[in-house]
Amino acid sequence: MGPSTETFPERLAAVRERIARSAERARRNPAAITLLAVTKIFPAAVIQEAYRLGLREFGENYVQEFETKAPEVKNLQGARFHLIGHLQSNKTRPAAELFDVIQTVDSARLARRLDQSGRRLDVMLEVKLSPEEAKSGADPAALPELISAVRECENLRLLGLMTMPPWSDDSEVSRPYFRRLRELAERHGLSGLSMGMSHDLEAAIEEGATCVRVGAALFGERRR
Ligand SMILES: *Cc1c(COP(=O)(O)O)cnc(C)c1O
Repeated sequence: MGPSTETFPERLAAVRERIARSAERARRNPAAITLLAVTKIFPAAVIQEAYRLGLREFGENYVQEFETKAPEVKNLQGARFHLIGHLQSNKTRPAAELFDVIQTVDSARLARRLDQSGRRLDVMLEVKLSPEEAKSGADPAALPELISAVRECENLRLLGLMTMPPWSDDSEVSRPYFRRLRELAERHGLSGLSMGMSHDLEAAIEEGATCVRVGAALFGERRR
């Protein structure tokens, strides 16, 4: 990827084209696939620029980081902010205030704490499908219990499932994880599937993604 030589509008057009082509291959409506712009590490000005170019859904990984950017993007009408990073239970209160969607609910306890905030929230359940140690997410076997716990939370609306396969630059390595997530969602009557990132969004869309989370392909590689 050499995004530094391209302008942001060019990179955005290229990502939209990739989404449209994969949707076409899968005979799916591209309008049913949300492009979530992942703006972690980037300043609030990047969110504002993306908003000017028509993006409305934004993903952030860290509650604390977004706390510092939020005042600068609060006034963006119709923008929605998704938490896509692991949520610690001691951060549920600020998270519920800052975000519209929490994609990383992985325990009943976390769901209840979010519910107690009193704010209406859309949530997704993060599922751990790979044995990698560091990854968070609920065990697929725990899903039935977790789903009924979330459905009992009156402030939470359950949209679907989210996952993050083990890293590989070969998108075919991700595909079986995407397929597995779709099967789990179908089994539990859930329609939302947040899966696919810059390098594997095609496979994710072919396997049914309703939300792709894209950072690097839009904004360039992140430097820490
Ligand atoms: C950073 C991140 C993304 C975006 O990854 P890119 O490779 O930059 O597209 C998507 N999902 C999660 C959970 C992330 O942490």
